[in-house]
Order: sequence, then structure tokens, then C-alpha cells
Amino acid sequence: MTLARAEIVVDLAAIRHNVTTLAERVAPALMMTVVKADGYGHGMVEVARAAREAGAPWLGVATPDEALALRAAGDVGRLLCWLSLPGEAVAPLLEADVDVTAYDVVELAAVVDAARATGRTARLQLKVDTGLHRGGSTVADWPALVAAARAAEVDGLVRVTGVWSHFAAAEDPDHPANDAQEQVFRAALAAAEEAGLAPEVRHLANSAAALLRSSARFDLVRCGIASYGIDPAPDVPDGPDATPEGPKPGLVPAMTVQAPLVLVKALAPGDGVSYGHTWTADRATTVGLVPLGYGDGVPRHAAAGVGSDAAAEVLVDGRRRPVRGRVCMDQLMVDLDGDTPPAGTAAVLFGPGGQGEPTALDWARACGTIDYEIVTRVGARPRRRYVDGAAPVASVVASGATTGATSASTVGGPA
Ligand SMILES: *Cc1c(COP(=O)(O)O)cnc(C)c1O
Repeated sequence: MTLARAEIVVDLAAIRHNVTTLAERVAPALMMTVVKADGYGHGMVEVARAAREAGAPWLGVATPDEALALRAAGDVGRLLCWLSLPGEAVAPLLEADVDVTAYDVVELAAVVDAARATGRTARLQLKVDTGLHRGGSTVADWPALVAAARAAEVDGLVRVTGVWSHFAAAEDPDHPANDAQEQVFRAALAAAEEAGLAPEVRHLANSAAALLRSSARFDLVRCGIASYGIDPAPDVPDGPDATPEGPKPGLVPAMTVQAPLVLVKALAPGDGVSYGHTWTADRATTVGLVPLGYGDGVPRHAAAGVGSDAAAEVLVDGRRRPVRGRVCMDQLMVDLDGDTPPAGTAAVLFGPGGQGEPTALDWARACGTIDYEIVTRVGARPRRRYVDGAAPVASVVASGATTGATSASTVGGPA
């Protein structure tokens, strides 16, 4: 058995389960699975493939590079891209059959130029800013943008396939911005139709809105975080009224982050741990070295006193162990409270949560951030390993320690 280094285990069956579950929940609206930022740290190409297998008709990415990488990996389905840079080449996207987005007449002109240069009719989507005040056309500029897009359509250079926008606070269903944004969106749609546009897909909802706001589903919803099994609205309590359709859907977190303990050692009272000795043993105890650090995307805020009062925890040998002392670039220490599990014992930072391990949400709360950031940032360095429904939470991930892996069916994954 080879030594498993620190690794991210991604359960593709969980991804497929989540995509299917969400698609059923939002029907007749269609699903776009958002796979930007390397699939929120889960691996863009692998997640995209799993989403397509589960029937996702659309994929969404931020950058042209991401869109072209998906095409290079063989993806041929509908694919929307929404964040080009000024001057960035549009022609390769048209040649790759990607739906592109314009936020203003300058971006529209670049799309029109690329359509002329390639001889292709661009599939174009127009984004209106309904109140997030990030990307998209201002409401003031919207009439000019839809008129220019319609003119390009009449010339055969573009076909406006979509009109869309993005929420600012959908995870808080009582936030007044939700109603306001939906109203502005409806008015923008009416203006687009008056200008002669007949978009195939009108879309506004991210994961939270897809689940919590059925009026905002329109033709298509863009689900990122929920596709990875993470509740987009953790502060909305579950229950019969949690969503318009009842309880929250049973999503399964797809990512587990784990590593073998490298070393276990005894400490005497008063021994300081890690840089700066920000934590000092108040008793005789044992600590374990986990080979993951901020170079792997583990937040330095995971230690108590840095980002929050409570330390993040790691599951070792059936118990949650607090991170102690500063998180270093490549390693962190956990307090084993006198226990002496052998080197090689699995240390599970987070996973689906069904076997006592913390979740990405637990880590987010300890680090003063959101679980989106936890899973995405941790995606960079540790090796990813893909499984298909098998239990990612093992008690042992390295050779040399006792075995006793837990069974595949206990993770709570899709049947
Ligand atoms: C990232 C992103 C999404 C997905 O949001 P989730 O909250 O992860 O579902 C949807 N639309 C746009 C424009 C995005 O940038």
C-alpha cells in the first residue's frame, strides 16, 4: 500500500446526486451547473463530466480560459461564460460554440467583430445589473444595449440566447434586495422583448434563490455551491417550510480533505506550539502533526485567536481534535489530549459530516468565512482523488497503521 499524502477526495456520485436532486426541485426550469474556479476546488473537468452524466443541460464558467479548457476536455453541451477581459479574444469562444456574455455596448462590439471575423453567428447573452452592482449593464444603459444587440441580430451577427442577472442576498430570503432585484429583472426582460429580442433562457437564480425563491427560477437556474452538496443558506433552518417545496433537499457534500498524521508527540505543561507560541499546553498532552497548511489553502485563521475564538477541528481516531498553534505553510498541529494514535492515522479536516468529521461549514465558522471559500481555496495543492460513492472518510489513509476503514454506505451518499 502506497502512502496517501494529504488529499482531497471528491465523490462524483455525490455530485451526480446533487445535480439530479436540484434539477428535480427546480423543474421545469433547467439546471446550469457552475464549475468556475476549478469546480469550486473539486476539479472542473471531472465535475463537468459528472454534471453532464446527471443530465445538466448547461454549464457555467467565469473565464474564457475555463470555457476553452472544458471544450478541450471534450465537453460539447451548452456552456456560458461571463467574465472576459477588455481586449481578450472572443473568436475562439465563438468557434468553440460557447455562449458569451456582454455587459455593455463595448463588449457587444467585440462580440460583433468576432462574429464578422469568424463568419459565425455569436450566441450572446446580455447581463443586466439589477442591484448587485458588480457586473452587468446598468439599468440606465440597458435600452441602448438591447437595441444594439437587436440590430446585430437583424444583421445575422449574433443571436441573443439569454438575458440574465445575479442576486446580492438570496441566501437571506427576507432581504429586501430580493424582491427589488426580481422586479428590476422583470422590467429589463420586458424592455428586451420590446426591443425585439426573444431570449431562449432568462435566468436570475443562484443556488440559494433556486431553492428558496421559486418566483426567480425563470427558464434556468445557475447552481454552483449546491451542486457540490453545500447548503447555500445555512442560516435558513430546515423544516417543512424551509423552501417553497418543503424541507431542504438532501444534498451530499462531495469533498473530503484528509491526510495521515506524520508524527505524534508528548508535551509537558507550558510547552508552546508552532510559530510565536500562540498556544501553550496547559497540561501534559499529546499533539499530532497534520501535513496540511496554508500553502494547501487551509486558512491560517483556523487556529483559535487568529480568526475567531474557537479553533477549527480535525477528526482523528473517532474524536474531533482542535487545531493548536499557528497553521504553518505546510503543516498544522492538533491537540490529541493524551491519546497516541499511530503515525499514519487519518486526520480528516472536513467531509460530508456523517461520520463525526467536521464539515466545510464548521471550518468556515471557525475561520470567519463561508464554506464556498473553504472548499475552493483548499483545491489548489493537495492531490485530488476521485471516488464514486465510496466512503471518503477512512480511519487510516497511510500504510503502517491499523486498518479499520468505515464502510461506503455510511456516508449518507446517494443510494
Ligand atoms: C458563482 C456564480 C453563480 C453560482 O453561485 P452559487 O451561489 O454557488 O450557486 C451563479 N451565477 C454567477 C454569475 C456566479 O458568478
